Amino acid sequence: MSETMKKYIDEAEKALLHTYNRYQIVLDKGDGVYLYDLDGKKYLDFVAGIAVFAFGYNCKDYNDALKNQIDKLLHTSNYYYNVPAIEAAKKLKEVSQMDRVFFTNSGAEAVEGALKTARKYAYLKDGKNDHEIIAMNHSFHGRTFGALSVTGNPHYREAFEPMIGNIKFADLNDFDSVLACVNEKTCAIIMETVQGEGGIFPADKEFLAKVRKLCDEKDILLILDEIQCGMGRTGSMFAWQRYGIKPDIMTTAKALGCGVPVGAFLMTEKVGANSLVAGDHGTTYGGNPFACAAINKVLDLFKQDNIIENVNAVAPYLEKRLDELVDKYDFILTRRGVGLMQGLVFNRPVAEVINKALEKGLILINAGAEIIRFVPPLVITKKNVDDMIEILDSCLGSL
Ligand SMILES: *Cc1c(COP(=O)(O)O)cnc(C)c1O
Repeated sequence: MSETMKKYIDEAEKALLHTYNRYQIVLDKGDGVYLYDLDGKKYLDFVAGIAVFAFGYNCKDYNDALKNQIDKLLHTSNYYYNVPAIEAAKKLKEVSQMDRVFFTNSGAEAVEGALKTARKYAYLKDGKNDHEIIAMNHSFHGRTFGALSVTGNPHYREAFEPMIGNIKFADLNDFDSVLACVNEKTCAIIMETVQGEGGIFPADKEFLAKVRKLCDEKDILLILDEIQCGMGRTGSMFAWQRYGIKPDIMTTAKALGCGVPVGAFLMTEKVGANSLVAGDHGTTYGGNPFACAAINKVLDLFKQDNIIENVNAVAPYLEKRLDELVDKYDFILTRRGVGLMQGLVFNRPVAEVINKALEKGLILINAGAEIIRFVPPLVITKKNVDDMIEILDSCLGSL
């Protein structure tokens, strides 16, 4: 490592609050599916800023759209209309089949809005303040108090108790465990359609169908968190669109902005007309013209560049090549995932493999201590997959 890079890392550790154990590189620029550190070393990127950079780095169309908006208008507050937000909302409604959009600055904030919407909906029905929400074990919904309260990882919550309260946890794909949590106070069930941070666990089709039916029978709102698995990653615009069901509320973020920090929660007309009203919720920056110029361009590029077609073309190949590694190494137990959201499950911690890969110019990330997660840019090619496998294989071989 150069002296310059080392100096920056030392300075970072003196100035930034240490809430991340960071890899020992300073990233400087990106181009396509490659990142470069300060020393000019090139990395093939299979993380994409954690499922963010759908089009890869330095995408000209996208950059130009942002630059144009910067020169025009960055921010207005939500007390006035702006064209990028109106366009973005229309486009997002179309691809999500939902009816009402609220733009946020992050994923966690979208989850907060979804939870508030569900509580308000229930409150308007019975005037009570004791409603319960069912969430899933191993889930991840963000780090703010509401989102953390429904995050099914006790380790993340422990030091910050008490949480918002009236949350019960069930197991994904175990319908009986959900039923056991339901009572007349239940106002919502929240889950990721494909669990990300918790270890890449897709919801079963049958499970989700049963949860949907239960919600319909009891007028419980189904909230699907599509922050990581949405935006084309699993081969449809939103993961739930492959399940033959529809949520009442959904959240999106990460690849929605492709680098600009944005999120949104969306709902059906029925929920929109019976929940939040003027004065109930707000944000200063959320949905500003700059952020919405990003969303507009992202949604345009998904169509224009046939992003979802590429996911569906490349994902089976990624699965095949990862399965070969499962067969080859007995310390790899299995692969699971959907589309370009895949996990390799090891019988041991994967930190060493990830560090070795980084040395060899491949950026990977874990999802839990023993799972390597693959969430590359959605524009990767089969050749990129081959290059990734070659490096990973060489790291595994030397274990
Ligand atoms: C990343 C993530 C969040 C939180 O999003 P932030 O933008 O980091 O607040 C919430 N839910 C899921 C499923 C995520 O993957």
